[in-house]
Amino acid sequence: MTDNISKHVTHWIGGKPFDGTAARQGDIYDPATGQVSGKVDFAGADEVDAAVAAAKAAFPAWRDASLSQRTKVLFRFRELVHEHRDELARLISAEHGKVVSDAAGEVARGLEVVEFACGIPHLLKGGFSENVSTRVDAYSILQPLGVVAGITPFNFPAMVPMWMFPVAIACGNTFVLKPSEKDPSASVRIAELWAEAGLPDGVFNVVHGDKAAVDGLLHHRDVRAVSFVGSTPIARYIYETAAANGKRVQALGGAKNHMVVLPDADLDLAADAAVSAGFGSAGERCMAISVVVAVDPVGDELLAKIKERVAGLRIGPGDDPESEMGPLVTRAHRDKVASYLDSGVAQGATLAVDGRETPVIGGGGEGFWLGPTVLDHVTPEMDAYRDEIFGPVLTIARVGSYEEAMELLAGNPYGNGTAIFTNDGGAARRFQNEVEVGMVGINVPIPVPMAYYSFGGWKDSLFGDSHAHGMEGVHFYTRTKAVTARWLDPSHGGVNLGFPTNG
Ligand code: NAD
Repeated sequence: MTDNISKHVTHWIGGKPFDGTAARQGDIYDPATGQVSGKVDFAGADEVDAAVAAAKAAFPAWRDASLSQRTKVLFRFRELVHEHRDELARLISAEHGKVVSDAAGEVARGLEVVEFACGIPHLLKGGFSENVSTRVDAYSILQPLGVVAGITPFNFPAMVPMWMFPVAIACGNTFVLKPSEKDPSASVRIAELWAEAGLPDGVFNVVHGDKAAVDGLLHHRDVRAVSFVGSTPIARYIYETAAANGKRVQALGGAKNHMVVLPDADLDLAADAAVSAGFGSAGERCMAISVVVAVDPVGDELLAKIKERVAGLRIGPGDDPESEMGPLVTRAHRDKVASYLDSGVAQGATLAVDGRETPVIGGGGEGFWLGPTVLDHVTPEMDAYRDEIFGPVLTIARVGSYEEAMELLAGNPYGNGTAIFTNDGGAARRFQNEVEVGMVGINVPIPVPMAYYSFGGWKDSLFGDSHAHGMEGVHFYTRTKAVTARWLDPSHGGVNLGFPTNG
């Protein structure tokens, strides 16, 4: 990106950039410098209508495209995203702030869902029962819903949309994406790659914007289903509003992921995990570890190992190969995250590492910087424990036993991801069985499921019934039809009157 100031991001509707005039626009920032790097158009009702109309018009032909036609496009798209992964990673890094290697990692994880969707001929197979009555067969088919929408957060501008649209499109639906207005460029580049892959115009559309664009989709009569990923209050709103408008909805919300470290754990492994999962992408991950639950007596030794590793982390601009952690996404978010350092200390926590003092490669300028921070002796009534901080603040809660750790987790409203570190297989198995959390890691810090499993939390981390991608994604984006068929066959005696037709 040579001329950042002139960057102008607009909608992608019907296979091309939208050429209307935007009544409203938002600023795009370079979080490493704090400067505005471009503008993004915000959709109102007219642009949302245009995108949904394009998707609706494209649906009949795409629904009827053979499975091999669809998979051909998906395979080409997979190759193109793979070829352009570094370019996509740089686009993401420039607007989100995360280091380029993290951004490349998210593209790679998104690609895994595209690869999963390439298997759609197998995934869409229905069931068949021959002779449910004499010469009567019964079978089920999975059919697409129509126009479906995805509304996504800033923190994974490529991967989270890719949890949704590969599966939706492979199933025969057409898609309208409303990405985060904070880092909108990757979604448009992805739309261009779809077009290059041969996806018919209108099957994949992008509208940018804020609440007005989202509300336009939630109330649109032609949108059949809504997938959302973002914070819990907005997830709850999306779920209630979309459901009230008769739509199928899955709304994935926020997180407060606990990592339980038992006394018999390998503490070096646990400290490595806490630091990489706590500070990767500056903690702006829904699977970030935000609470380390240290079971007595490991607290002091574990803290020492964590501090040792944090001291070696290099903070700097995302496109500097030396940087291991970038800035936060906006100034407002940076300041909100930093406020938990003060409130934590005021409420009795110990500031073991103060990220406000971390040096930044190149000086940092006016960028949205906050270094890795460790708050020790955090307890459930503190704001730093109760709120989702979504930044580079690792909190440590000390407990006396496994049972106390489980009580802590049970009392937390979120249930996205969790991890346990132990060498006791029985304890790990008990944890996996008892814990009220959707995704569990055992000696693994960020248990993001593979594409062929499904991604989703429990409790306030998900509103709706289906998790994302995997078979739950296929079911979310299809409706089942059950068919019972009788074919008259004169050579076998003509009409069969034996089939019970009631009930
Ligand atoms: P957000 O909830 O602020 O925004 C998400 C989307 O909703 C964006 O597209 C945004 O434009 C839109 N939006 C924002 N306010 C709205 C409103 N009042 N009405 C309608 N739409 C609105 O989330 P964010 O700050 O972009 O992302 C961070 C959050 O996402 C964190 O809470 C994080 O835990 C969560 N997240 C969850 C998962 C998961 O899988 N559960 C994954 C990634 C991120």
